[in-house]
Amino acid sequence: MADDQQSSVSMDTIVALAKRRGFVYPGSDIYGGLANTWEFGPLGVEIKRNIKSAWWQYFVQRRADVVGLDGGILLHSKVWEASGHISEFFDPLIDCRNCRARYRADTLVEDKLGQPAEGMSTEELTRILHGADMACPACGQKSWTDVRQFNLMFQTHLGPVEESGTKVFLRPETAQNIFVNYKNVTQTTRVKVPFGIAQIGKAFRNEITPGNFIFRVLELEQMEIEYFIKEEDWEESFNHWRDQMAEFYRWIGLKEERVRVREHEQDELSHYSKRTVDYEYKFPFGWKELSGLAYRTDFDLRKHQEHSGVDMTYYDQPNEERFLPHVIEPTMGVERLLLTLILDAYNEESVTDVNGKEYQRTVLKLHPRIAPYKAAVLPLSKKPELSGKAMEIVRELRDHISVEYDETQSIGRRYRRQDEIGTPYCVTVDFETLDDEAVTVRDRDSMAQERISLSELKSYLLERLNQ
Ligand code: ATP
Repeated sequence: MADDQQSSVSMDTIVALAKRRGFVYPGSDIYGGLANTWEFGPLGVEIKRNIKSAWWQYFVQRRADVVGLDGGILLHSKVWEASGHISEFFDPLIDCRNCRARYRADTLVEDKLGQPAEGMSTEELTRILHGADMACPACGQKSWTDVRQFNLMFQTHLGPVEESGTKVFLRPETAQNIFVNYKNVTQTTRVKVPFGIAQIGKAFRNEITPGNFIFRVLELEQMEIEYFIKEEDWEESFNHWRDQMAEFYRWIGLKEERVRVREHEQDELSHYSKRTVDYEYKFPFGWKELSGLAYRTDFDLRKHQEHSGVDMTYYDQPNEERFLPHVIEPTMGVERLLLTLILDAYNEESVTDVNGKEYQRTVLKLHPRIAPYKAAVLPLSKKPELSGKAMEIVRELRDHISVEYDETQSIGRRYRRQDEIGTPYCVTVDFETLDDEAVTVRDRDSMAQERISLSELKSYLLERLNQ
């Protein structure tokens, strides 16, 4: 009955849906927007919460060897000196002299010239771009500056006076809080290597973005684990985490055929990494990074040990040995995953209604773990006896799941609205309900309808949602 046309969805369609239904709004909208900033509306915030709690449940709550942390956005500048971000965290930029548009040089080389550019030096990028006789995508002129390196960290100042001594950075990754607190955690809990510290939190990157909606944002939320191991176990641990990430994607319903793993070449590895793989997703603008898994060696703990003078070694009591742990890091961004899940779930289908009439519907086939509302309760009409009964049902269900109540418009339109926001079940209260104490439950994907008695409704839904 359903005819899946997902693969052709455009970003414009998704951006429009996101705004129309209250998932994502442009930042500072009433003032004309602020470039590359976005705000999450009532449905967006529900999905974000669902993503974060699914991640926490999967990677922290379910495991005996991972504990959590919630560190600050502002850290001592010395943290970023030690981590290498002050000297290494740069993007190569090039400006059009004519219209002053600014671009990431590596992205221009990749997208406009079709050449891989990761890891290329500033000089190489300049040579290629100057040699390519390429016009500025904004104004069409061919007048380029040289490529320059631009640090991605946002700076601010502590205290009211902008003195050099008070300069601080907003963290560009959450990982460093974990390294800085690794000693605290080992001393105050019962963790033993191998173990992980997990954190979800905001990070800030002053990026030039090519405008793919929330794929690349300036203010992002990261979900990261630093998993501390003995050096000789790194390969086994790396494979374990690679599998866990794939398992997690399955668990939240991502389609396997649109996800792939890509190994980083030696020359594109970050300054701290010995091996990295990216999970990539097939976005409408091509295969791009969804998340990363890096073997960070003992780089970070060693650097913090050197810069702070604090001994970061771990004492393994049973084996009476002391060593600096190595680290495997699975990391992913909440906004990018949210975009991915919406794209992945988006379907336009031709369907047939109960009267045999064909119509088009848009449906987000989000996994129930991710869907903003798990059910919608819809009285067939606004008559007080029906709406009163429906509200009773809503109140009972709301103790367990997020439920929307909607009594406006025709029932068909209300179903279509719930399909479009991904609500797995619609519960319809009709006049018969008043006599038989039963409701009609409609399944979003199959559109099948079943009559369920009110005494069984809660367990019927919870059973199906908890898959
Ligand atoms: P990219 O190559 O896309 O710039 P990265 O390799 O710098 O990403 P990491 O530092 O490994 O990314 O960050 C881990 C994860 O955080 C990424 O896989 C992505 O999901 C997310 N992420 C990083 N930067 C951004 C951003 N600017 N906007 C949204 N998500 C981001």
